[in-house]
Amino acid sequence: MEKKILLSSPHMSAEGYEQEYVKEAFDTNWVAPLGPNVNGFENEIAVKVGIGHAAALVSGTAAIHMALKAAGVKEGDIVLCQSLTFSATANPIIYEKAIPVFVDSDYETWNMSPKFLEEALIKYPNTKVVLVVHLYGLSADMDKIVALCKKHNVTLIEDAAESLGTTFKGRYTGTLGDYGIFSFNGNKIITTSGGGMLVSNNAERIQKVRFWSTQARNQARHYQHSELGYNYRMSNVVAGIGRGQLKVLDQRVEKKRQIYQYYKESLKDIKEIEFMPMNDWNYSNCWLTSITLKGKVTPVDLIIALEKENIESRPLWKPMHLQPFFEKYDFIGDRTSDDLFNRGLCLPSDSKMTIEEQNRVIKAIKEVFKNA
Ligand SMILES: *Cc1c(COP(=O)(O)O)cnc(C)c1O
Repeated sequence: MEKKILLSSPHMSAEGYEQEYVKEAFDTNWVAPLGPNVNGFENEIAVKVGIGHAAALVSGTAAIHMALKAAGVKEGDIVLCQSLTFSATANPIIYEKAIPVFVDSDYETWNMSPKFLEEALIKYPNTKVVLVVHLYGLSADMDKIVALCKKHNVTLIEDAAESLGTTFKGRYTGTLGDYGIFSFNGNKIITTSGGGMLVSNNAERIQKVRFWSTQARNQARHYQHSELGYNYRMSNVVAGIGRGQLKVLDQRVEKKRQIYQYYKESLKDIKEIEFMPMNDWNYSNCWLTSITLKGKVTPVDLIIALEKENIESRPLWKPMHLQPFFEKYDFIGDRTSDDLFNRGLCLPSDSKMTIEEQNRVIKAIKEVFKNA
């Protein structure tokens, strides 16, 4: 059996930057939550994406949770959430006992449809927050979404877990709304093994998130608490990995974009394959090259054929309005996301993948269509 080709796996720098920062943490005995790497990582991310403030947390999910709290979401509040996404986007809405209303995607961006967002804002005039996602590194149509949120006086949170390094009209995704979140889980474009970051230009709210995420300890000699706390802060060791990874983010984006281009060029003769939409205003990090199929071959046919060659691929995210846990909530749309889910899949886009390995994937795909 040939070597397994993965969708996206951890890729540490050739220079060993990550280990230098981790070694420093060990040498100074900062093997603890908080510490100089945490502060350094926060500052470096903020500078990189061009935002005022950042709070390093244990996961992207925790960052979404804290963003909702920072936005003042309370029990019974309406949160308009993109339906086509990973469940981690929507789960924190339930943590806060708020009510998700799922909004469909459009074919132009695969992300939240501004048309259906407007419909949802009219149907739910008391909406508290809009939670938009930038899937696979594609950016949502942020001009329209930001304008709608301003018009309706609603807080905008961007789930940029998959889009660190992606820009919309020259600005980084995650910095276009009121709050943005990034994830450093093992399969993301850069990883700390696990971790997340909340970013915002609102210094006071970021400070408050740091307070909540360190058990909400008030200033006092004894342990004093006036609010509910969480143990959500990133550790100094983990942040060291992040500082090293951030140095190679641009390289990773370039490699992922090359992978996308090479698939597109190599598979252009197969008319049944359509590639994810790349808009002029979107410089995508191409986290996962994704395609949709029309014709006889289904995503599952292709996934099984690739599996036989020891190649990992997977369907697009199954929309939240189709999930047993979430289906009781309202959904605004025309089921574009259902169609994308039924016809879509993600191809291996590992930044460590060699051209020979990518050729193996391409050959296996061509084989399926030749025999169809
Ligand atoms: C990975 C991911 C998250 C969650 O991030 P974690 O760090 O794994 O908690 C949230 N939203 C989307 C869209 C993701 O892909």
